[in-house]
Amino acid sequence: RKFVYDFGEGKTDGNGTQRALLGGKGANLAECSLIGLPVPPGFTISTEVCTYYYAHDGTYPLSLDVDVKASVARIEGAVGKRFGDASDPLLVSVRSGARDSMPGMMDTVLNLGLNDESVEGLAAKTGNERFALDCYRRFIAMYGDVVMGVQQRHENEHEPFDAVMDQLKAERHKREDLDLTPDDLRELITRFKALITERSGEEFPQDPYEQLWGAIGAVFRSWGNDRARIYRAKYHIPAEWGTAVNVQAMVFGNLGDTSATGVCFTRRPTDGENVMYGEYLVNAQGEDVVAGIRTPKAIDEMKTEMPDSYTELEHIRGVLERHFADVQDVEFTIQEKKLYLLQTRNAKRTGLAAIRTAYEMVKEGIIDDKTAVKRIPADSISSLLAPTFSADALERETPLATGLPAGPGAASGHITFTALGAEAIQREGRKAILCRIETTPEDLRGMIAAEGILTSRGGVSSHAALVARQMGKVCVCGADVTIDYSRGTLGIGTTVLREGDFVSIDGTTGHIYAGRVDAAPSEVNQVLNGKLDPDESYTYRIFQTVMGWADKYRKLAVRINADTPKQAATGLKLGAEGIGLARTEHMFFEGDRIHYMRKLILAAEDSERRRAANKLLPFQRDDFHEMFNAMDGLPITIRLLDPPLHEFLPHESSARLALADKISVPFEKITERVAALQEMNPMLGHRGCRLAISFPEIAEMQARAIFEAAAQVVAEGGQVALEIMVPFVGFKAELDNQVNTLHEVAREVMAYRKVSFEYKVGTMIELPRAALTADDIAHTAEFFSFGTNDLTQCTMGMSRDDSGAFLPTYTAKEIISQNPFASIDQVGVGQLVQIACDKGATVRPDIKLGVCGEHGGDPKSIEFFHRVGLNYVSCSAPRIPVARLAAAQAAL
Ligand code: ADP
Ligand code: MG
Ligand code: MG
Repeated sequence: RKFVYDFGEGKTDGNGTQRALLGGKGANLAECSLIGLPVPPGFTISTEVCTYYYAHDGTYPLSLDVDVKASVARIEGAVGKRFGDASDPLLVSVRSGARDSMPGMMDTVLNLGLNDESVEGLAAKTGNERFALDCYRRFIAMYGDVVMGVQQRHENEHEPFDAVMDQLKAERHKREDLDLTPDDLRELITRFKALITERSGEEFPQDPYEQLWGAIGAVFRSWGNDRARIYRAKYHIPAEWGTAVNVQAMVFGNLGDTSATGVCFTRRPTDGENVMYGEYLVNAQGEDVVAGIRTPKAIDEMKTEMPDSYTELEHIRGVLERHFADVQDVEFTIQEKKLYLLQTRNAKRTGLAAIRTAYEMVKEGIIDDKTAVKRIPADSISSLLAPTFSADALERETPLATGLPAGPGAASGHITFTALGAEAIQREGRKAILCRIETTPEDLRGMIAAEGILTSRGGVSSHAALVARQMGKVCVCGADVTIDYSRGTLGIGTTVLREGDFVSIDGTTGHIYAGRVDAAPSEVNQVLNGKLDPDESYTYRIFQTVMGWADKYRKLAVRINADTPKQAATGLKLGAEGIGLARTEHMFFEGDRIHYMRKLILAAEDSERRRAANKLLPFQRDDFHEMFNAMDGLPITIRLLDPPLHEFLPHESSARLALADKISVPFEKITERVAALQEMNPMLGHRGCRLAISFPEIAEMQARAIFEAAAQVVAEGGQVALEIMVPFVGFKAELDNQVNTLHEVAREVMAYRKVSFEYKVGTMIELPRAALTADDIAHTAEFFSFGTNDLTQCTMGMSRDDSGAFLPTYTAKEIISQNPFASIDQVGVGQLVQIACDKGATVRPDIKLGVCGEHGGDPKSIEFFHRVGLNYVSCSAPRIPVARLAAAQAAL
């Protein structure tokens, strides 16, 4: 069994397709070696060994020892140095590498192989004592932390090695790491070793192979640590995947002023513009750039400071993008003017950047439109529609500070300094801005809960920036603000804000404002609303083109849930192909209408009810007429009255008084009727078709309004594609009752209006009984529309409005993996959808199937609806572009 794969310097065993086996880092290092890019030689221990390690009590396959030795020997040959040589040692890095990159989650050890003796050899060999000692102190600290567990013991404690270093700097009056002399570094090394012994009870190991195995084991163990687990849970990465370990010859960015280390993106990850983007540090090593210890320089400065390396990097940027056909995030090191590539991976990017780069890469011929459609996270398309701070507000506000724009968008919220605080604010339904000096993986939970993230330290490739972009959070980092955890203050210029105060951050410009700032619609929205010329907006062109590609591939139609002509118009602009759900009840709450509705419900006699209904008729008819005109012949599914009775009742005595006055019925009588109609459990009570069956005047009036409006449109030469659906049906007989009324009224209206038109009648499938008897119901229903909100409530016996009390606990305790009201429970509720589709089709093979309700805009649910063969999904306006893209992805 092969467990170890070599790469670099003429012998590369693996390649870029073997991510599962070699991890992302290992596979890409192999691939880069294969295409001739400068990668220091090394080898990858496969993820199978990680799995083995966990299955066998932290032990390794028998052959591993020999294999590792052989591969170390190969590196020795390639580099011309020996591992453990006292006079000229080969040093290696030991790096983790999961299948999907997990930024900052796993641990890395650099400069491994040094000991008290070989550090002197390295100093003599390079003639650079400072460099050798710098490598050694870094190695001891990393090894002590990662392998020997010398770490912070609680949140407020300083990282222990940093604390020792700060102490020494203070004693010797040194500010920067680079100010430390060889003598200082020797003292530092002594103190580091003492710290390790004191804390772990063990000596820092001097034997290079002992060091190597220690580090390999630590990488495997880091796969099981808390940070990694939280990250995996958030991104649904299975624990079984495991991590690989990469062992690689060190190259040194800390060899002096012609050496450097850096990171670069082949395109700007905030907005996707096709420019090289990144930062670097001269005379530095490894994670100095990311750690925010020194502030790195923008990659542009390399043009003048290290022109040859810059040109080479530009060249590599092109090679990588063409080869990997995606934007790359590259780690590099320059050792005495020679550039080495240490890592490349597909870059994390904001939604905005994902869309723009996919679009431009198609235009540049790097990928095809199918790939572009598959690559853009469906949810991210909504970032094109997300608001920004309004120009008006910005005119009034002065930014009190700026930072690096690291995650675009606009966010306003309450200041909090801790992850727990962010979570608490979110639980109260308010928005939090998490303010940290710098973020670490421990802050992840807070970042998830926060609306935006503000840091005072770290560059655009810092942990905060990386994670924020991936989560689509607004982020400003490295800002010139002062954060004081102990006082709980955020200082912006001369203004001091406290925990809980409002702060506003603009992740597109990097500006920070005290207080709340109003947001404005996005460019795409401005174009859609006629406020901006489409030719003037590049973003809009991208949006339209990408949507066009999606439409080419999708099979599911996308409709909008719209109750008003205005919403319908918005939906059409966003690409809706009809209305999947027009709720009629909303019309009853406008102006005076509620009084007549109440009168109707409270009336004791039929004739009285009919009179009230007749008052409502013209309103409903006009509304429908307008809706039909707005849709201009596109299908429109109207749902008859659905909500529980109690929503219409006047509960306040003042409202009852007003009503009494308005409809001239005694107050006492109204109060009596209201009491009689009171329900224990309205959501399962007198609602939906039950209401219309008890009060036939309602259904009749609605039917008449719909059909008269349709007749009018037809008479005016227009078109209507009308679908009427009956809510909350559990029995075929309920549907029959309603459909009879509909047909009767339709016949009448067509007769007296002397026009004819077609219409379909169907039902919501939102009760388990309806799903289970869908064949029976399909004898009457010409279409089904799955009301998956109620179907979820009723299948799970879980009230959507009350589930907030326990769902968070359920997801935290992993009883369920996601909120079933956000993404459909495919296994349970989905089964009922499947059953209803199958049974419906046995009776009516061409039955039309759709879904209305929240799930219609959720990408994962859409994938499911595509699979079970629905004809359309319907969702709220802002989700329409998301649904179009998700539907295309489901079809590809
Ligand atoms: P992560 O997965 O957290 O990015 P890496 O394994 O990429 O961790 O290591 C972090 C950093 O350490 C790299 O970006 C690079 O700067 C440095 N590094 C790793 N291996 C080497 C090496 N062989 N030579 C020089 N620097 C290295
Ligand atoms: Mg790391
Ligand atoms: Mg890395």
